[in-house]
Amino acid sequence: MSEPTATTDPAARAAALDGADALGHLRERFVLPEGVVYLDGNSLGALPAGVAAAASDVVTRQWGELLIRSWDESDWWSAPERIGDKIAPLVGAAPGQVVVGDSTSVNLFKALVGAARLAGPGRTRMLVDAATFPTDGYIAQSAARMTGLTVVPTDPADVPGALGADTAVVLLNHVDYRTGRLHDLPGLTAAVRAAGAVAVWDLCHSAGALPVGLDAHAVDLAVGCTYKYLNGGPGSPAYLYIAQRHQAAFDSPLPGWNGHTDPFAMTPAYLPAEGVARGRVGTPDILSMLALEAALDAWDGVPVEAVRAKSLALTDFFLECVAAYVPPGRVEAVTPAEHAHRGSQVSLRTENAREVMRELIARGVVGDFRAPDVLRFGFTPLYVGFADAERAARTLGRIFG
Ligand SMILES: *Cc1c(COP(=O)(O)O)cnc(C)c1O
Repeated sequence: MSEPTATTDPAARAAALDGADALGHLRERFVLPEGVVYLDGNSLGALPAGVAAAASDVVTRQWGELLIRSWDESDWWSAPERIGDKIAPLVGAAPGQVVVGDSTSVNLFKALVGAARLAGPGRTRMLVDAATFPTDGYIAQSAARMTGLTVVPTDPADVPGALGADTAVVLLNHVDYRTGRLHDLPGLTAAVRAAGAVAVWDLCHSAGALPVGLDAHAVDLAVGCTYKYLNGGPGSPAYLYIAQRHQAAFDSPLPGWNGHTDPFAMTPAYLPAEGVARGRVGTPDILSMLALEAALDAWDGVPVEAVRAKSLALTDFFLECVAAYVPPGRVEAVTPAEHAHRGSQVSLRTENAREVMRELIARGVVGDFRAPDVLRFGFTPLYVGFADAERAARTLGRIFG
């Protein structure tokens, strides 16, 4: 078989690329609606095949029959750390540093206040990704107010120049949710740490789409959600990463009884648990947590590096198809062309983006719209193929007629 080339027509090229796709078989691990091209897995991941049966067992047997015994006998109690260890390899963390529970917003609060306390006195500023996802910005403002810091909105590229002896905490999004730009986690983390500040990364749009390397790059703290690229289901619990070296000093602003060293001693004084368990707050949301655990089986034997390679091939191919099908001047890619700066989505700026996306969805191509003028297409390599990318671009081209 000859190599597919750019001169072949896009549909033939898509077929060749799908035929050569080493991850193509993973689509069978998901339940996907017929006839729909789903490019919104960066908002809500697809349903992994094993989740319905696993969730049903949790409800009918573990809860319905075993009742309270399940905290021990079904290992409910240890779920936050156990599932954290299942996520850990996907974000490049050794075991014992990731705990699952609460929302990303709540974990961000714990991480930012915890980071300010780790940074210690004498530092007054919290640098926050100026284009951050809104909840991160709101939480950062409150966390800063509580810890006596001042938020300085900063473009990630300007962080190295903005760092100083007065910087306490730096909060960055690994991938920008709107543009799909991938920020330099290794370089920025190194710069933050060299300034003596604490680096907090939000991995919502990178975990499950590309290698993160939390340990390798000495990230201090990180948070992320599990319902996007990790396919945990609507509202599935988020996670908090506390690097081993910070765990003994990590002082959570939400010291709930689940993070106590001996929760059932029911003592009036709070003594934090050893290790990442001190990142827990209250009783875990077991139903969604165990649905997430089953969802993570979709990753069995899947190297994140292979996912990244396919993600880049998919977004490259989609951009190529858009260039082939969409009349010139109608859309403008806001996602960087360079692989080093690209996450796993393609954002296209266009006039009437809201209406264009509505029309795409009506024609079976599901992406999403981000105000004011962005069409967002998420590429989730576990279940999206090259023919999907081709059909999405072709449909977009027809809308522009
Ligand atoms: C999706 C997302 C969130 C979501 O936070 P929730 O608390 O789950 O609503 C937060 N931050 C970023 C960067 C996101 O992309």
